[in-house]
Amino acid sequence: MGKEKDGVAHYPLVIPSRRQPQARAREESAFVFGWRSASGLRLNAMSRSYQFDAIVIGAGHNGLTAAAYLGGAGLSTLVLERREIVGGCCVTEEIAPGCRASTTSYIASMLRPEVIRDLQLASYGLRMVPCDPALQVPFPDGQVIPWWADRERTINELRKISSKDAQTFVRVDDQLKKLARYLQPFFLEPPPEIEMDGIHSWWNLLRVGKRFRGITNTEIAQLISFLTGSLGDFLDRNYESEKIKTLFLANNVYGKHGGPYDPGTALGLLFHLLSGGEHELQGFYGHVIGGMGAITQALAAAARKRGVEIRTSAPVARIDVRDGRVRGVVLEDGTEISARVVLSNTDPKRTFLGLVDKNELPEDFRRAVSGIKMNGPCAKVNMVLAEEPKINGMPRDASPAQRALFTLVPSLEFAERCYDIAKFGDIPEELWVDCVVASNVDDTLAPKGRHIMTCFVQYVPYFLRSGTWDENRELLGDRVIKKIAEYAPNVPRAVVARQVLTPLDLERIYGLTEGNIFHGDLTLEQLFFMRPVPGWSQYRTPILGLYLCGAGAHPGGGVTSAPGHNAAFQVLRDLRRHHPKDPRA
Ligand SMILES: Cc1cc2nc3c(=O)[nH]c(=O)nc-3n(C[C@H](O)[C@H](O)[C@H](O)COP(=O)(O)OP(=O)(O)OC[C@H]3O[C@@H](n4cnc5c(N)ncnc54)[C@H](O)[C@@H]3O)c2cc1C
Repeated sequence: MGKEKDGVAHYPLVIPSRRQPQARAREESAFVFGWRSASGLRLNAMSRSYQFDAIVIGAGHNGLTAAAYLGGAGLSTLVLERREIVGGCCVTEEIAPGCRASTTSYIASMLRPEVIRDLQLASYGLRMVPCDPALQVPFPDGQVIPWWADRERTINELRKISSKDAQTFVRVDDQLKKLARYLQPFFLEPPPEIEMDGIHSWWNLLRVGKRFRGITNTEIAQLISFLTGSLGDFLDRNYESEKIKTLFLANNVYGKHGGPYDPGTALGLLFHLLSGGEHELQGFYGHVIGGMGAITQALAAAARKRGVEIRTSAPVARIDVRDGRVRGVVLEDGTEISARVVLSNTDPKRTFLGLVDKNELPEDFRRAVSGIKMNGPCAKVNMVLAEEPKINGMPRDASPAQRALFTLVPSLEFAERCYDIAKFGDIPEELWVDCVVASNVDDTLAPKGRHIMTCFVQYVPYFLRSGTWDENRELLGDRVIKKIAEYAPNVPRAVVARQVLTPLDLERIYGLTEGNIFHGDLTLEQLFFMRPVPGWSQYRTPILGLYLCGAGAHPGGGVTSAPGHNAAFQVLRDLRRHHPKDPRA
């Protein structure tokens, strides 16, 4: 049954109208945008009556990416951001005088290399250094297991624990990398539509078929099992050592609902092997010099260079829709700005249930949006320390880079219990904490003698069973420090400053509905052609000229720039603008 929250009913997912909405939207777009007129002439003629060709609501990394591509294609583009800074969940902020941290996202692993190159982000100061180790788990018995960027080195590390598992690792790693390559191309293009007819459906089928050319029956079975199976079952089937299984766990499930034994949790194994970084390395994990905000600063600079105007402290109150067609936006201060197209970087619930008048949307579409599972299961605690954490069992000769990250989760069973507690609305006493001491690899973040540690907390509820997050904020901070102290006893007395971001804070400060870091849970029923809701996976919406360009659209959350890139190209295609970088041109 639907659940009331803030006057909005939350219903289970309902497939919206089956009247081929995408096809209808495309045909209507053709009429409104004048596709059938000669190459964009109609656009130029019409754009005179609008202040901008395009408005992007939100300056998250996806909004900025979309804006940069639209600006690059010659569209006059305005970005409106409610906060006083750009970046959304990809920012560097001061958390104590002179001390800066990646307050929300903290590791760059999936930022699309194509976007880095197209927008020449390196020329605007973006620099990433590979995390090495990519991840590392200290165990309560003092053993520390790193997962090195170099595969042979990792295999040697695993061999010390189980030679059988070390052999399995080679086989499984090869298999995963091969399967991930089939999925990779889908990242930078709209997913196939489920409701199409005529030539488009054939073209779509052909496109999908081409991506899977050469796939064997065994690989199809493996792919399906990764898409639908559980991480825990997969690891139990393949590995004997609990510690090695935990190493895989430490790399997965972040931000997702579900313990490691829930169906669909194995998918992360493939997602994390998509190539990333400037040099397209499979399984890349990067520290961003200057913090994650350096990514969005570079994107903003690239956008401005392409003529985009960016206004901060400019919250949009309403998307102006008349006769089923977008006309522009109205800011909270009453300013009206018109545009031919509007792209929303805010999550689907915020966009369709918050910014669009309910009479402008079909009821079944609104119901489907209401049913998107959000209910963010994570939090973040950022700290300034007077000395870096001294992890029990860390080798004496460990490099600063090795001492820069560690994940505190002792076993799959621990994680499963943690999720069970959180899912019933309680804050687990024993937390899963992923720590990065970014200042160990980046001396731009804090003055000498100060260390920046960010701690991602997996599995806390947005809806508390009792009490409020305002009452429990410091309790969460205390529990995080207590957990870290079990592995690095020097930390509690080294804390100089701390910032606790509960799921509610993620909603209030960063605008994430229910604190969901991916603008909607990354479960199978909310992915590919079902993201944000079935029938509307191609960035278009039931309102002509209104597009979704954030993590709530395909391929989902994480700092990837993919939804922003894909939405921009969809707009350009609808406007009949040829772009040399269009992957589908
Ligand atoms: C705590 C945390 C840790 C994470 N860790 C990682 C990580 O390590 N690696 C990784 O890849 N991903 C991570 N993620 C996920 C990733 O950061 C997000 O999925 C991604 O940044 C979303 O980007 P976006 O541009 O789609 O949306 P957002 O970054 O959410 O941007 C949306 C923007 O819209 C603005 N906005 C909202 N409403 C309005 C309005 N009415 N008017 C104007 N502007 C508005 C918001 O202020 C915001 O700036 C993390 C996220 C969080 C919160």
